[in-house]
Amino acid sequence: MERGQGEPLVEAIRLSKHFPGGRGLWLGRGPSVRALDEVSLTIHRGETFGLVGESGCGKSTLGRLLLQLDTPTSGEVRYAGRALHTLKRSERQQARRQMQMIFQDPYGSIDPRWTVGQVIAEPLVAHRVGTAEQQRVRVEELLELVGLPASARTRHVHAFSGGQRQRIGIARAIALEPGFVLADEAVSALDLSVQAQVINLLSELRERLQLTTLFIGHGLNVVRHLSDRIGVMYLGRLVEVAPADELFRRPAHPYTRALIAAMPQPDPRRRREFVSPIGELPSPTAPPSGCHFHPRCPAATERCRREVPPLLPIAEQRTVACHFPLN
Ligand code: SF4
Repeated sequence: MERGQGEPLVEAIRLSKHFPGGRGLWLGRGPSVRALDEVSLTIHRGETFGLVGESGCGKSTLGRLLLQLDTPTSGEVRYAGRALHTLKRSERQQARRQMQMIFQDPYGSIDPRWTVGQVIAEPLVAHRVGTAEQQRVRVEELLELVGLPASARTRHVHAFSGGQRQRIGIARAIALEPGFVLADEAVSALDLSVQAQVINLLSELRERLQLTTLFIGHGLNVVRHLSDRIGVMYLGRLVEVAPADELFRRPAHPYTRALIAAMPQPDPRRRREFVSPIGELPSPTAPPSGCHFHPRCPAATERCRREVPPLLPIAEQRTVACHFPLN
């Protein structure tokens, strides 16, 4: 069975998140921000699902809701078929243990005096897994797994380079053998050559540990490299989902096509067949009516301005939210 077709592991069901508007001095509360608008998606066991879109499109909000780091305004998250909000406290803790995150800056919230060993062992300590000696052995195993020497355990995190720190962050995220890992812009801050090394590591670990991963990024090239399927988000909505190769070969949504056309080309003499989206991303506090993409879409019609296009299947494993899909 191909990846992307197995048993559902993580599901978002019509998930929405609205944030209240800020308070002005005279005008009262401003309009709310619809960071996420009825997004449904399924990530299958063993699959790497890539999520792309411009900054502010809601992809990180979706990630945080899936991991229960925030509560949805409406909709639900299911893990292994069970709605997380219906679980008892102990069951929810168990589910939390199964869902881990690789951060872009894993050290923002960590005491700089901690050693690498303490950073990686922290989830084991928090969930009371093993004795101190077993935790030490596990930390050394994990360091080896991410390509660092066991001796790194006793050194301080600040002594390591950006790429090495990301390896430490990955070791920490997989310490509890989670079923699902969310990587949110995990390589965005790294130089290109270091990015490639970390991506290769993630790719190797995916095979070795049979990880199910949601990989969030705005660099389409990076996401393509790792993902079985890719979802494209625009202003809080999912507008297209397709197997990674298919998405690049035959994008069905004008926005996806524009994103691909805007990717840096290895050969600058190669002509682009489509110009990248025109103008700025509209504000999520006042999204355009109907299809949110219509002010930037060269194919927009009156219907697009009026009606929200639902996300509908157009082929096996392919869905698109557009009244006039390409192809
Ligand atoms: Fe463009 Fe209309 Fe499709 Fe929206 S629904 S992407 S405006 S063609």
